[in-house]
Amino acid sequence: MKEPKRIELPREIWMGPRVIGRVADVCSRLCLGKRALIVSDSLTFQIAGNRVHGSLTKKNFDVKYVLVERANIRAVTRVRRLVRKEIDFLLGVGGGKCIDIAKLASFYESKPFISVPTAASHDGIASARASIKGRGHPASIETHAPTAIIADTLVIKSAPRRLLAAGCGDLIANFTAVRDWELARRLRGEPYSEYAAALSLMSAQLIMENANIIRQHTEESVRKVVKALISSGVAMGIAGSSRPASGSEHLFSHALDLLAPQPALHGEQCGVGTIMMMYLHGGDWQAIRDALRTIGCPTNAGGLNIPAKYIIKALTIAHRIRPERYTVLDKGLSKHAAERLAIKTGVI
Ligand SMILES: [Zn+2]
Repeated sequence: MKEPKRIELPREIWMGPRVIGRVADVCSRLCLGKRALIVSDSLTFQIAGNRVHGSLTKKNFDVKYVLVERANIRAVTRVRRLVRKEIDFLLGVGGGKCIDIAKLASFYESKPFISVPTAASHDGIASARASIKGRGHPASIETHAPTAIIADTLVIKSAPRRLLAAGCGDLIANFTAVRDWELARRLRGEPYSEYAAALSLMSAQLIMENANIIRQHTEESVRKVVKALISSGVAMGIAGSSRPASGSEHLFSHALDLLAPQPALHGEQCGVGTIMMMYLHGGDWQAIRDALRTIGCPTNAGGLNIPAKYIIKALTIAHRIRPERYTVLDKGLSKHAAERLAIKTGVI
């Protein structure tokens, strides 16, 4: 008999211009309590945190805030200490870092959290995964999904163009992530969800189809990317793991994070990884490269500003990052195979 299945998803998702003004209404409706903690950094507090603060204070919430600088365990511990001092719920207001810290601290303290992204650079804005440094490895940790997501498309549009393009790289990764998942199902009998896989692929497909709209960097561009990131987060919620959105291309990106003196953005590295992993899968890697190029996401080592030797090294160690996650990399690539792959796909 099959195991029972649990799916965890956000209860409310708001997306559009000026939705940040609705934060207090959403918090009241969800009955999260009155004592809120905003987790921001100094920049995102100026951009959005103080508006969230104002909106909540006006509706008689008791609001505190904390400014964090790095997504590491020390910051999470600091936030947890504050949460224990009579906080009912948290709001992560910022890019990946603030959201990840709020997500992990709220998970450890069993409190709800709301995701208020100021950029759409990766699918962590909507998923249960948190990437926190200082746990001995750079891969992500399974936590809980946000109770609500409030994605103000005008706020996100004002973030640098490069961040939105990186979000597209993280989404296009779903193409190879799903192929890796299918391989793991066939070769290892790994549990597989057709619904999660279909939704994940659809999110990536929408990015490919709308590459020309996305490159214009309008409110519509932001909306397309945010919707896809949220669908991708929902796909992970249905799967109960990051499988639908994280395969060999993510292992490559995690390996670069370990090796490169100055890694590029997560989504940018995943995009380049997707080009190469799709080549290994025998799929249309050129179409992926072309869509990334149209969007303005890097497609090679030069674009990532990472020397070729780190790309090669990352390809040879990627399979060791999460050995339990079976992918097309299987037992790893030799240096020769890695060089051949990177040259063939124009990455180096
Ligand atoms: Zn990712």
